[in-house]
Amino acid sequence: MNPRAPSAPPFMSQSALTHEAAARHLIRYGGEFAPVTIARATGCWLYDTDGRAILDFTSGQMCATLGHSHPRVLEAIGQASREAIHLYSTMLSPPVLQLAERLIGMLPAPLAKVMFLSTGSEANEAALRMAKLSTGGFEVIGFDRSWHGMTAGSSASTYSGGRRGYGPAMPGTLALPTPNAYRCPIRHCRDACDRTCLEVGFEMVDRQSVGAPAAVIAEPILSSGGIIELAPEYLRRLKEMCEERGLLLILDESQTALGRVGSLFAFERSNVVPDFLTLSKTFGAGLPLSATVTTAALEATCHERGFLQYTSHVSDPLPAAVGLAVLEVVSRERLAERASESGAYLKHGLQALGQRFEAVGDVRGQGLLLGLELVHDREHREPWPELAQAVARRCLKLGLSTSLVRAGHGSVFRIAPPLTITREELDTGLSILERALADSLDALP
Ligand code: PMP
Repeated sequence: MNPRAPSAPPFMSQSALTHEAAARHLIRYGGEFAPVTIARATGCWLYDTDGRAILDFTSGQMCATLGHSHPRVLEAIGQASREAIHLYSTMLSPPVLQLAERLIGMLPAPLAKVMFLSTGSEANEAALRMAKLSTGGFEVIGFDRSWHGMTAGSSASTYSGGRRGYGPAMPGTLALPTPNAYRCPIRHCRDACDRTCLEVGFEMVDRQSVGAPAAVIAEPILSSGGIIELAPEYLRRLKEMCEERGLLLILDESQTALGRVGSLFAFERSNVVPDFLTLSKTFGAGLPLSATVTTAALEATCHERGFLQYTSHVSDPLPAAVGLAVLEVVSRERLAERASESGAYLKHGLQALGQRFEAVGDVRGQGLLLGLELVHDREHREPWPELAQAVARRCLKLGLSTSLVRAGHGSVFRIAPPLTITREELDTGLSILERALADSLDALP
């Protein structure tokens, strides 16, 4: 017996054909699949199985900061494949040792120790476990629009999606209001946050605490939460409040590290050095590589207490070789500066769209991590998710890949092309966005 369905008729396009297969065989892990099938990705461009070019304004899943398949990354993969791809988890290799030295050399004291893992969830999980082990506490505070991952600990502190239906989150997880100046969480400020939400948030946390503090985990710019920046003064006050309570600060720079926001690390903008720094997405430029960085003192305490974070791919040589290539390209191609320059140009272009369309409520963000929020009108700021979805669909048809972030009321575009993008490509993206906005507004009832 052949249990397989007959293949699709020959007149169907490649994309339609593979999407039929998806409907038959694939688990839908995040809503619907995008209605394209990508055969190839290079630089800032994706090519579908029908040969159509699509400009990538999402850097894949926010990882392809060097563009897709950067030649230096391909070379590193090639070399590592000839030397060593994977090893026994306590065995070290030259790429891991060099990467540790190189990365720590880029960071301020007292950050001095690092471990290399595969995903962002894992890096946060390691930081959370070390924070619990070293403090003896278990309470973890996160922002109510955060995204830290899908593993048990990291998802317990992820509030922007996926909370319902999976049973209890980790005991001791508490939330702080996200300081969104465009939509103040406590209806107090408008357009400029005076940090009252932080004071109020900690009053609530203090009342709920059972006296077992471990950590605050935060993205310096909440990305899936709608591109909400923790301003430098906010971050400084947050660190102070952590210290007053014996909470360690974990900064999750999965999306913001290594140039994206116009500096190597987002925390540099505030001079707040965290107790733990986690890197992922941008670190592997498309390959699974993440890092948990901490101080020598915290590492020593955890080691004495038997710290265990033993995974199959911890300290693997191939991703470490890729990480070295990424650090090299970020510095050689001046990607932080380029993100800052291209980001200013793109932001200006998005603000210009605001002059034509009343529906553009807000344009925000740093470097090439920008947010564009669509609203019914600028006074009341009612989100307009139907328009945003129509624009996203139309963009894809016109050859631009965009993403709508999860916790942005469905109406915030995250605009984050590879940092290697050219002016001409930015102009192409902006003109597609403009046309998609005009077409979608015309088409809506
Ligand atoms: N932290 C942040 C800020 C993220 O955006 C993500 C992924 N969206 C993660 C952690 C989790 O990373 P991963 O999906 O690689 O586990």
